[in-house]
Amino acid sequence: MKSVKDYIRTIVDFPHEGIMFRDVTTLFADPRGFRMAIDQMLHPYAGMQIDKVVGLEARGFILGGAIAHQLTVGFVPIRKKGKLPGAVISEAYTLEYGEAVMEMHDDAVKAGERILVVDDLLATGGTAAAGIKLIERLGGEIVSTSFIIDLPELGGRKVLEDMGMDVHVLCE
Ligand code: IMP
Repeated sequence: MKSVKDYIRTIVDFPHEGIMFRDVTTLFADPRGFRMAIDQMLHPYAGMQIDKVVGLEARGFILGGAIAHQLTVGFVPIRKKGKLPGAVISEAYTLEYGEAVMEMHDDAVKAGERILVVDDLLATGGTAAAGIKLIERLGGEIVSTSFIIDLPELGGRKVLEDMGMDVHVLCE
């Protein structure tokens, strides 16, 4: 039987030369692949209380929506600067070249809510760390963080674990 990893395609030199881009659209497009990924992401949380799923733009929306539906809880998007229509809180983080900003509606998470954070891929951990800070600023309690892929040489798992996070990944 194929594993989740078998459905992920690698695109060489995207978005620029020297980058091996791990493309999960081939996993999402396959009915068995997508089902397997969602089932495996849900597995560690069976029987646990989770109040909301937070997904990071953009592939975290696809995964987070499916996971929230399975858990019968609400879904909250964390988006890049300027995309959300209501009042937001913001967190800047460092990219390889420059800085980016992630935003969340300031009423999207209530103090004490138990949150699962979801994205497709963990690289340096900068994106997820910014999302975690936003949720914690609103008083959310992060139960766990879940990704399909971890790129271990980039150190993201350690960044999140040093913030006290539980980290689940399906493959490296
Ligand atoms: P980080 O902030 O360095 O951990 O990068 C993770 C973010 O960049 C996630 O939102 C990913 O979707 C995206 N990303 C970085 N590299 C890749 C890749 O190879 N494939 C898919 N997404 C990637």
